[in-house]
Formats: sequence, structure tokens, C-alpha cells
Amino acid sequence: MTTRDEPTEHTFSCPECGESLEVNASMRDALLEFGCVLCGTLVSDEAFSAS
Ligand SMILES: [Zn+2]
Repeated sequence: MTTRDEPTEHTFSCPECGESLEVNASMRDALLEFGCVLCGTLVSDEAFSAS
């Protein structure tokens, strides 16, 4: 249970399949843990940029 506001959204760009989508902090964490939603490639912090 957190009282912090959700940080600003990030843009995820998959280096493998080119998928691009805006994500919030929790989605970003999930992508870092499980990989790209489309191709399953494991991604690093470099795949995200602040929007
Ligand atoms: Zn991908």
C-alpha cells in the first residue's frame, strides 16, 4: 500500500520487435521482469524513456 502518486509515464520501445507503448511504473517493472508483451524479449532499462 503506497501513498505515493504514480510517477509520470514512460515510453517503452522494444529493441527486438519495435513495439512501442506508454507504460506506468508498475507496467515498467513488469516488462523488466517478464519481457516484451509481444515477443517476450527480455528488456533492460534502456528500452524505456521518460515521456
Ligand atoms: Zn518485443
